[in-house]
Amino acid sequence: MKIFCVGRNYSDHAKELNNAIPDEPVIFMKPKSALLQAHTPFYYPEFTNELHYECELVLRICKNGKYIQDKFASKYYDAISAGIDFTARDIQNELKAKGLPWEKAKAWDNSAVIGKWLPVTGLKNKREIDFSLNKNQETVQKGNSADMLYDFDSLVSYISNYFSLNIGDVIFTGTPAGVGEVVVGDELEGFVEKESVFKLEVK
Ligand code: ZN
Repeated sequence: MKIFCVGRNYSDHAKELNNAIPDEPVIFMKPKSALLQAHTPFYYPEFTNELHYECELVLRICKNGKYIQDKFASKYYDAISAGIDFTARDIQNELKAKGLPWEKAKAWDNSAVIGKWLPVTGLKNKREIDFSLNKNQETVQKGNSADMLYDFDSLVSYISNYFSLNIGDVIFTGTPAGVGEVVVGDELEGFVEKESVFKLEVK
């Protein structure tokens, strides 16, 4: 299983972190060990003092492929959820300033949370999917897939030009504006449309 992530896919988020709007998708990966397994507590990592949530729509790949054309891409994912691309922002800022890779900031154990899968066919319109994140019962992030710079199909196609996609791989499709800090004791709950797909407490 591979975990792909897309950076800067919502212009309002790129702006809030003072990043340029990319002229092609920004892709990075997390290893399988980054996936928080079900019924496993999430612990605040010791190496950071600035842990951020990034709530994102996540796609699940259902078919093996390479060099997938845009027009066929929608056949390659069958389920969607919301998840969190946890980021050690202090470490990321240091690494970015030095032009170094981001793994220590983003690819650590349990840094990828994925909620319950919903079949794509159950959604009325996959081009306009609302998702949101509550922190301690207050909405802190709100997004809609219509605002992505690169939509699901173009991401699947683009990624498959570099990496083979395999059944069970997942793609975190980028976060909208509103990323922020969490501290021990915070409760996070993610929604796709109105449906709650994950709930976790930072321990
Ligand atoms: Zn992200």
